[in-house]
Amino acid sequence: MGRTLRLRSAESMHNQRASVIQDVKRMLEYYQALGFDSMPFSTKALLGAAGRSADGKIADLMHLREEIGICRRCKLSQGRKNIVFGTGNADARIMFIGEAPGKDEDLQGEPFVGEAGMLLTNLIEKMGFKRETVYIANIIKCRPPMNRDPEEDEILSCRTFLDKQIDVIAPEFIITLGRIALMTLTNNNKIKITAARGNFFEYKGVPVMPTFHPAYLLRNPKDKWLTWADVQKVLERMNNSNS
Ligand code: SF4
Repeated sequence: MGRTLRLRSAESMHNQRASVIQDVKRMLEYYQALGFDSMPFSTKALLGAAGRSADGKIADLMHLREEIGICRRCKLSQGRKNIVFGTGNADARIMFIGEAPGKDEDLQGEPFVGEAGMLLTNLIEKMGFKRETVYIANIIKCRPPMNRDPEEDEILSCRTFLDKQIDVIAPEFIITLGRIALMTLTNNNKIKITAARGNFFEYKGVPVMPTFHPAYLLRNPKDKWLTWADVQKVLERMNNSNS
C-alpha cells in the first residue's frame, strides 16, 4: 500500500470514528436530558447483544451507523456537511419518514430541526407523544444541493439504510411525510399524495399512513387539518390494538 493510500485510509477511519463518536455523544446528551446519570442500558447490549429489546435495538442502530461510515455511495456525499442518520427512540411505536435533510438538518446532523421540524414536533405532541419517544428519519441521509428532489439513483443507493432502520425499530406504524417518501415506499413514481394521503398501505408488513410534508404545510397552512385527520387514523388503530 502506497503512502498516499495509507494516509487516505487513516483519514477515512478517523472521519468515520469521529462521526460515530458524534452520534454516541448525541445519544448521551439525550439520556442526560431525560435525567439519567449514565446510559440506562448495559454496556454488553451496547456492544452488540442483538434482539428485540430496546437495548438490542440501540446497539443495532449504532452498528448500522458504523456501517454507513462516511458513506460515498452516491454523489450527494460531495456537498453534505453531515450524514443525517435519524433520531429518536429505537423502540418507537411510530416512525416518521421524510424526504431528505435541508440546510439546518445538514448543519446540525439531525432530521427536522428547522421551521418544518417545529411543525412536526407540534404535531407529534398534539398526538400525545414526545418527540424523543417516536423515531424520525428520511429516505435520503445527505442533503441534495439547493434542496432539489432526490434523484432515483440516490434513493436507490440510500434506501437500504432506511430499510435496515425499519427492520431494527420494527415500528407499529409508519407515517410518511410528503411525496418522495410516499413514492419510495410504494415503489410508484406516479402516485399522487393528494389522492393517497389518509389511506393506509403496507411496507415490510408495517401499516403506513401517508400525509403531507411539514414544509408543504408551512406553505399551505389551510391543509393542516388534513394531516391532523390522517394521523387521527393512526391513533384510532393504535387505540384499537391496545384495547
Ligand atoms: S445519501 Fe445515502 S447513499 Fe448517498 S452518500 Fe449519503 S448516506 Fe450514502
